[in-house]
Formats: sequence, C-alpha cells, structure tokens
Amino acid sequence: MNALCFAPAEPPAVAVAGSAARFPVHRIYCVGRNYAEHAREMGRDPTLEPPVFFMKPADAVVANGTAVPYPPATENLHHEIELVVALKSGGSNIPQHEALGHVFGYAVGNDLTRRDLQNAAKARGGPWDAAKGFDHSAPLAALRPVAAGHVSTGRIWLTVNDELRQQSDVADMIYAVPQVIAALSQLYELKPGDLIFTGTPAGVGPLRVGDRIEGGIEGLETLRHTIAAAAHGTRT
Ligand code: MN
Repeated sequence: MNALCFAPAEPPAVAVAGSAARFPVHRIYCVGRNYAEHAREMGRDPTLEPPVFFMKPADAVVANGTAVPYPPATENLHHEIELVVALKSGGSNIPQHEALGHVFGYAVGNDLTRRDLQNAAKARGGPWDAAKGFDHSAPLAALRPVAAGHVSTGRIWLTVNDELRQQSDVADMIYAVPQVIAALSQLYELKPGDLIFTGTPAGVGPLRVGDRIEGGIEGLETLRHTIAAAAHGTRT
C-alpha cells in the first residue's frame, strides 16, 4: 500500500461496558420522528410517515461524562435522548427476522440538534446536515453487549438540571429495532461499527451553557454530560 500523505485522525471509538476494548465507529445513522408524540410535536402526522434517515459524521461521538461545547451558528441547541444500536456485522437488504443477529449492543445517546438550522432547512426544503451532523453532536454512554439481552422495551428519560424533560418507553417506537435495521439496509450496505440513533420521544427542548444533562434507558449505562462555553476558533 502507498504511504499516506499525512497521519490520519485517530479512528473514532466508543466505550463498551465491562470491557477495556472499544467499539470502532464506522458510520452514525439516525432515525427521525420515531415516536408518535414527538412526530406530533414537530408538526407531522405519525401515521403517514415512512422512516426518515439522516447521518452524523463518525467523529461526532463524545464519550460519557464529557463537557460538550455549545456549537457555533445556533441559538437553539436541542436535546434528543435516544436508544442507540451498535452493529457487529452488516449487509444489504437484511430481512427483519435476521436483523437482531447483526447487533453488537445498545447504548444511550443524545442526538444534539441545532433546531433553528433544522427549521430553516425544512422551510427551504434543504438538507439537514448542518442541523444534525456537527462536531460533538453525538454524546454516547458505554455500549452494553447483547449478551445482556436485546432492548425492545424499558423507560427512556432525560433530565436537564434534574428537571424531567423527556420520558417514554422504548416500546413506543413506531419502527422497532429490527424494522429500522431492515429499512436502513435497503438504502445502505450496513457495516460492522455502524451506530443507529433510533429516534427520540416527545419533550425535546433547548440547552444552555452550564446545563447538566442526564439521560437513561432501563438497564443501560446512564448518559451524563454538560454544556460548556463555546469553543474558540482552533487551527489544525
Ligand atoms: Mn433524533
């Protein structure tokens, strides 16, 4: 193989509960509007919608317990607590009944969103990339391997400064994990290392500098992070 022009960035990876080994991240896929109440709060009719997919860059992952800098170009940063599925294998056109066999584990993630940019994109019919796929936009707790069981039910919640903002049950997802994997694999060849944020329940809202966020799903490691002052411009 020819030499690289410069040393590549460290490959993004996330922690695995009960293991020193880390899960290398290939891609981050996300599902939009996967809980009926949240679809309604975003002004959509959940009964009429096929699953909506978008992506974040793999290096948007942020380790649990980290201060996330308030991102640039927004005045309306929102939290979205979500069940995250991690894949150990992949493929195209995966049938629903085989989908869970590709799962490595599950984690709690926060799909941070620049809501003002998303609303502007929706109004223009433009892409969501800048609203969803920005730096540090995917805080994630440790993955729990499937040996401890799959996650198809259980309380999902998020607090900001100890005030409850989001609460639902994973069983209320419109598209369950096997359906999400099957539908995604019709669009993309899934690979080991893919993460899938599966959508957020109702109650999304703004975050401010200094806020302390906690989010959980029954049986998984709780996600905790703060929002720090905006990072000053850096040069690399
Ligand atoms: Mn989301």
